[in-house]
Amino acid sequence: MFRTVKEEVDLSPTVSDEVKFTTCYMCACRCGIKVHLKDGTVRYIEGNKNHPVNRGVLCAKGSAGIMTQYAPARLSQPLLLVGERGKGEFKEIGWDEAMAIAEGWLGHIRKTDPRKLAFFTGRDQSQALTGWWASQFGTPNYAAHGGFCSVNMAAAGLYTIGGSFWEFGEPDWHHTRYFLMFGVAEDHDSNPIKIGLGHIKGRGAKFVSVNPVRTGYSAIADEWVGIRPGTDGLFVLALIHELLRADKVDLEYLARYTNAHWLVIQAPGTAEDGLFARDGEGRPLCWDRNTDAPGDAMSAEVSPAMVGDHTLADGRRVVPAFQLFAGRYLDPQYAPEAVAAETGVPAATIRRIAAELAHAAFSEEVVIEQPWTDWAGRRHERMVGRPVAMHAMRGISAHSNGFHTCRAIHLLQMLLGSIDTPGGFRYKPPFPRPCPPPIKPAGKAGTIEPGKPMAGPPLGFVTGPEDLLVDADGTPQRIDKAYSWDAPMAAHGMMHMVITNAWKGDPYPIDTLFMFMANMSWNSAMNVPGTIAMLTDKDAATGEYKIPHIIYSDAFASEMVAYADLILPDTTYLERHDCISLLDRPICDADGAADAIRQPIVEPDRNVRPFQDVLIELGARLGLPGLVKPDGSPRFPGLYPDYIANHERAPGIGMLAGWRGENGETEGRGAPNPKQVEAYIANECFWRHEFAPEERYYKHANKAYLEKAARFGFIGAAQPIILQLYSEVLQRFRLAAEGHGTVQPPERQRERVRQHFDPLPIWYRPFEHASVDREAFPLHAVTQRPAAMYHSWGSMNAWLRQIHGRNRLHMNRVTAEGLGIVDDDWVTVTSHHGAITVQAKLMEGVEPGTVWTWNAIGKRSGTWNLAEDAGESRKGFLLNHVISELLPPEGDGLRYANADPVTGQAAWYDLRVRVEKAPVPLTMTEPAFPPVPRPPGMKEAPTISRFGAIFRRNRSGR
Ligand code: SF4
Repeated sequence: MFRTVKEEVDLSPTVSDEVKFTTCYMCACRCGIKVHLKDGTVRYIEGNKNHPVNRGVLCAKGSAGIMTQYAPARLSQPLLLVGERGKGEFKEIGWDEAMAIAEGWLGHIRKTDPRKLAFFTGRDQSQALTGWWASQFGTPNYAAHGGFCSVNMAAAGLYTIGGSFWEFGEPDWHHTRYFLMFGVAEDHDSNPIKIGLGHIKGRGAKFVSVNPVRTGYSAIADEWVGIRPGTDGLFVLALIHELLRADKVDLEYLARYTNAHWLVIQAPGTAEDGLFARDGEGRPLCWDRNTDAPGDAMSAEVSPAMVGDHTLADGRRVVPAFQLFAGRYLDPQYAPEAVAAETGVPAATIRRIAAELAHAAFSEEVVIEQPWTDWAGRRHERMVGRPVAMHAMRGISAHSNGFHTCRAIHLLQMLLGSIDTPGGFRYKPPFPRPCPPPIKPAGKAGTIEPGKPMAGPPLGFVTGPEDLLVDADGTPQRIDKAYSWDAPMAAHGMMHMVITNAWKGDPYPIDTLFMFMANMSWNSAMNVPGTIAMLTDKDAATGEYKIPHIIYSDAFASEMVAYADLILPDTTYLERHDCISLLDRPICDADGAADAIRQPIVEPDRNVRPFQDVLIELGARLGLPGLVKPDGSPRFPGLYPDYIANHERAPGIGMLAGWRGENGETEGRGAPNPKQVEAYIANECFWRHEFAPEERYYKHANKAYLEKAARFGFIGAAQPIILQLYSEVLQRFRLAAEGHGTVQPPERQRERVRQHFDPLPIWYRPFEHASVDREAFPLHAVTQRPAAMYHSWGSMNAWLRQIHGRNRLHMNRVTAEGLGIVDDDWVTVTSHHGAITVQAKLMEGVEPGTVWTWNAIGKRSGTWNLAEDAGESRKGFLLNHVISELLPPEGDGLRYANADPVTGQAAWYDLRVRVEKAPVPLTMTEPAFPPVPRPPGMKEAPTISRFGAIFRRNRSGR
């Protein structure tokens, strides 16, 4: 006899006794999460199904947030340097003393010369606060990490289409038929892109990835185009050549929504050559085919000519911008055969992809039966779209030719008529904005005054040489030289140049470098050994450090900690309020506007404070006007939550757009609501406003959308946003370089400006490729973004370290075998700047001329509270050591930043190297840096993580 034993298994055991909602901060994506707590301890993190960003999806990083929350690498107490920088000799101090020291240093600067504060932040998400704080302090020397991340993408987009890829736009996942993705694009908008790729794969749309390396998203592409780094612009211009040749161009779209028909003055040698012809009121002219005469290019009544050589009544010769565009790119130098060798993409492939784009755009039109009205009041019965969508990010951006490449991609989109139409690229609010947004950077020569705020924000958008921050002889006014002739359109600043320039005192010395979440002595620095030397260098005459004071705030013991004089320990993202604001980098989607907060989920168990609270208190102590009341008392005694709810940037516009008005009755604009943060918490920590169906496409020209955008404060007025096929802004800088206007570049910089400020996209070899011996350094070297680690943010995370606990140099198998290299061989990677020795791993999914590794995995021994022999420091490495922050000297000795000459974007991906088998195998990567001791107050990390044991003990009562 057998008896069946029925076993009861609880398939969904209760894991928590409390659940709280907040926003993930394990990468830049900002997904909604539900945090499960057991006895006050984080037990489990789940995606929030209702959240607009991730709709319940959670990635490996997000679920591993528990290990960041309880990481042994958390700083626990304010620290003051008592020994030499770099040796890790600190003493613990209290917050009163720490704040008094910071107030003393900063107070002195503000009273004497506010420019001597350089305030730079990393990949934080509070730039709406930090930028405003810098402006209140009175220093122009502020930026976040954008200059070394993807400013080329942002600037090219904002100056061209009034929006950008990044997380500011998205493919129309539900309608596109053809998705073209360029370069490394994994680290922003991460979960929405994964969800979107699922949609397009499910619908059978084609996904083509153009990337030297087949990892990440490229691994699931239907076609991988293994292009050579830095040549994407040439590839795109060849696609444009083919589309023009085949006459596959949406001329109606160009005439309606772009400046392609605007007339450009042809008067070489004069001050107006290349500018738009305008009428007496400054309105641009086109050639009206109805009247065969000049007409108002902005009028809905004209029938504009797209080509033709015309003469205005005053005798000036003019042609439509499109004629210049077509003339340039029809040139045989852009033919597929002409670019195949440089790009590594066969001519037949380029030609086929151009034909596929044209087929998807013009033969698979998407129609949505939804009437809408354009800006001129014309009603359209349906929404017709060209279902080709594109996306690009840092892989395109981080080259010294990246600005023009990004612009070229946007021009390709315009040509196909696929910007904010069904099936194409879609803006996420608050974009589109005017091209460029009407905000100028403050900080012109002679405007900075002790004890006074600046007249505007430190970052903005220049529209001509007169907006630059230079003095009469062209000397830069900012410490990073942003908005100077070195990088006129440096819309995100140039953080990668701050330490070098401050150390040199060029253009002037500073007193205090104040940084937040910026690992500038390691993975966020080019030339790591040189940067460390500059941070520790002293003036021989005074014995003082060349950069006298460094204040650093971070939650973890990163490599930067050892190089600061004062450490202000931050909380984790689960211990504080945060604000994901429409004034900063919002979490909107194409169908709705949204913003969000973080709320404290657990109490800090250390003597740490949220950086935002510290900044607001410090501002009040310094008497910054926006942070004190007329009687001198703090304006926001409730610190950041108080600021989030009650600060107004403009009347009715604040940090959050939801539940505004005294009782939370309005959205977008409205009086501050003291209970606003509570309203967000009650709504799972986010707000979203869904657009009506007629507002969802053609946002740049859609009357209903533009009126709403103006009402919500996204744009100043409900005017159409004209896409800039031809950039008059760039031409203004070129004219200055040719000797016109009152603000002109110094003689030695003229040719560089003239060459790179072309109103139509150009392609040139990235500077390092062009300046080093290509035979001596025959390979490209780039980094890729792992899906399970966001830069160094997972360095302390016990679970994620098991996925990426070390890295290797990945090489094409054929290339490696040609060099006699096999898997796990030790190889020396040499650039014009330095050398590293690391282990190799062979693969097929990388184009033969490129080697690559995962970004930011290598760690300095002793940091992040890792064991001194951790894999990250023994077998991990950075390419940063062999990247120079400066280009080789010009003929006259001048050394420019290793950056794009238009925007100052750090050119991380321009690196050229040679790879050789190391003469003898090593046991650890080189260079090795001396270990840094653990900061005081930090216990030795356990060798085995026993997270979870506490819950088992509690369950079993043991
Ligand atoms: S994608 Fe980023 S924000 Fe979203 S769950 Fe993953 S780590 Fe968190």
